[in-house]
Parts: sequence; structure tokens; C-alpha cells
Amino acid sequence: MTMFAIDGNRLNRRLAEFAEIGALPKGGVNRQALTEGDRQARRMLAGLALARSFRVFQDPMANLFIRRPGRDETLAPLMIGSHLDSQPAGGRYDGALGTLSAFEVLESLEDAGIETDRPMEVVVWTNEEGCRFAPGCMGSMAFAAGAIPDDWAARQATDGASFTEELAATIESLPEAEMRPLGFPVFSYIEIHIEQGPSLEAEIFRSARHRHSGTRWLEAR
Ligand SMILES: [Zn+2]
Repeated sequence: MTMFAIDGNRLNRRLAEFAEIGALPKGGVNRQALTEGDRQARRMLAGLALARSFRVFQDPMANLFIRRPGRDETLAPLMIGSHLDSQPAGGRYDGALGTLSAFEVLESLEDAGIETDRPMEVVVWTNEEGCRFAPGCMGSMAFAAGAIPDDWAARQATDGASFTEELAATIESLPEAEMRPLGFPVFSYIEIHIEQGPSLEAEIFRSARHRHSGTRWLEAR
């Protein structure tokens, strides 16, 4: 059994970088699904993945996948991930923590030169929040069903935008990603997910001012 640790400083740096996309003046992040901000975050993560020579895929629902190969590529992947969209009062952790910590696992395995039997994939599910387009969890729902429900095509955003057009524009904004069909066998799935609004973010910065240790914020809530 190999001892293995991720790079927490790199993860915190990444969280701060992604929190700038859609940052609100008083803290928190507004980066709603299938907006330009959402596309920017997806492009940023895909760029980091390609720089590592990981393969990047998206499916017709704009779910984004980053794959690190295993020794046996015929085995179903272990999947880890979450979402990058954020509702108006969302904080910087929430889905971004689940997504970026998953990517950190791939990078740390790479740095340590550790091979895994199975391929591992990071996933970014489209529209988890459901506040711009209803319902929430569209990406994972369509993945599990293997199809996009017919009645989603005519859906309109709260700002009047068309679901079909915004989905197409999001997919087109990432031409580097290889297209793959919707839904495939997964060995198992892990997700870290914090629903905290901006309160955890505020708590961390307050804690930091009181010079608490770097890990204390994880216990704050
Ligand atoms: Zn969430």
C-alpha cells in the first residue's frame, strides 16, 4: 500500500483562481449554468488537464470528463467530481471543491508516478444548481438515463435564454474536448460536496485572520 497525499496548497490556489470567475463584490460566486462564466471555468479546467496530457471529453449534455488512464483500459473508470456552476448566493467551495479536489487527486497521482489498475475520470456535471434552467442536476440525470429528455429542448432560462442554444454554445466553446456519447458504465462514483452558501468562505477568512491552522476551516462547519 503506497502512502499518498494531495497538495493542499495547490488545491487552495486553484479554488481561489476559479472563485474569480463570477466573483461577487461582497464574497461568493455567481456562475450560473451554461453562461459565459460557466464556459470560462470549463475551459480553464480543460486547459489544466490538457497541460497534464490527460484526455478531455464532453458529451451532448456538456458534461465534462478528464481521464487518467489505468493499466487496464477495458475496466470501467472510477469517477470523482461535482459541478462548476454556482447559484447567485453560492460560495467558492460547493461544487468547485468537489471538482477541483477530484482534479487534484489526478495531478497528485501523476506527480507521484502512481499507476492505477482502473482509469480514473474527473467529471463536471452540467447545471447542478437548476436556478437558471430547471430542473437541477440536468447533466447527471441525462447521463444516468442515457438520453436528454425531449421536453428540455424548449426550456428557457430565467433570463430568457434558450436551453438548446446555450447548451450548443457551451459545447462549441470547448473544441479541444473529444465528443463521447451520453452515459457509460462507471465502476464507482465519489463526490465531495459542501452546501454552505458563502458562509464557509466568510468563516475561513475570519479564521485566517485569527491565524488558525490551515486545516481548521474544514472543521468550521
Ligand atoms: Zn452544489
